[in-house]
Amino acid sequence: MTRTPELVVKDLHVSVEGKEILKGLSLEVGKGEVHALMGPNGSGKSTLANTLMGHPRYEVTSGDVLFKGKSLLGMATDERSRAGLFLAFQYPVAIPGVTVSNFLRTALNARLAPRAAGDGAPPARRGIAPREFRALLREQMALLRMDESFALRYLNDGFSGGEKKRAEVLQMAMLKPEIAIMDETDSGLDIDALRIVSEGVNTLAGPDLGVLLITHYQRILDYIKPDFVHVLLDGRITLSGGPELALELESRGYDFVREGKEAATP
Ligand code: ADP
Ligand code: MG
Repeated sequence: MTRTPELVVKDLHVSVEGKEILKGLSLEVGKGEVHALMGPNGSGKSTLANTLMGHPRYEVTSGDVLFKGKSLLGMATDERSRAGLFLAFQYPVAIPGVTVSNFLRTALNARLAPRAAGDGAPPARRGIAPREFRALLREQMALLRMDESFALRYLNDGFSGGEKKRAEVLQMAMLKPEIAIMDETDSGLDIDALRIVSEGVNTLAGPDLGVLLITHYQRILDYIKPDFVHVLLDGRITLSGGPELALELESRGYDFVREGKEAATP
C-alpha cells in the first residue's frame, strides 16, 4: 500500500482582494520529506503559506487542501496548528512585553489544551507543568545552540533578522509539527545566521517532520538539502524536480522555466 502524503494541495485557486493569485496549484508533502518551493517575488509563495495556515484574507475559490486525509478549509488557524501544521513567518511580528519563554509556554498550552473546556479532563492535563516546560525549553535551546538568556527577551523586540528566524525555529522545535511551512526563513540573514538557522532546521528534520521550505534564492539549499524542488510561476507549480533544479534556477534564472513553458505550448 502506498502511503498518502500528510499534506495534499489539490488544484488550489486563491484570490486576494478579488485578484486571483493561485490558479490551480497542486503539491504533496509527506513526513520525512523536504520540499523547496521556489519562485520569483510576487509569484504567490506567501499566498500559499498563508492560505495553508488559514489567513482570513486569502479566499479559496476552488480546489482543496487535505491534511492527514481531512480538508483543512473549514478549519480555524488554531485547529490547523493543533492538527500538526506549522508556519514560520516571513516577517515575524514583535510582541513587546511578552517574553519568548512566556509566548512558547502559552503556545504549547494552547496546542495541548483540549478543544473545548469542560471536557472532563483534569486540570493537570490541560497544559504542560512549569518544571516540565522549562526542561523542554532548555533541551530545545541547547539543541539549537541558543543562549538561555534568549528566552527572557521580549519576542522579536529588537531582534536581528537572524534572531527572529531562530525564534521561529525554536517555536517549531517546541511545537513539534508534522508539517512545517517555512516562508523565506533565509531572507535577511547574513551567512553565519543562515548557517545557524539551517542547522536548526536540519536538527529538527527527520522521519516525523515534513518541511515545505519556501525560498527565492537557492543559497539556503546549500545548507538544507531538499528532496524535491518546485517552481511556482503563473499561480501554479510549473516545474518540479530534484535538488539539481535549484542549481539550474540559480544559474539560469526563472526565465528558462518561463521560456520552457512557452516552448512546450503549441
Ligand atoms: P511571494 O511570496 O511569492 O513574493 P505573495 O504571495 O506575497 O508573493 O504575493 C503574490 C501576489 O499577491 C502579489 O501580486 C501581491 O501583491 C498579492 N498579495 C499578496 N498578499 C496580499 C495582501 N495581503 N493584500 C493584497 N495583495 C496581496
Ligand atoms: Mg513571500
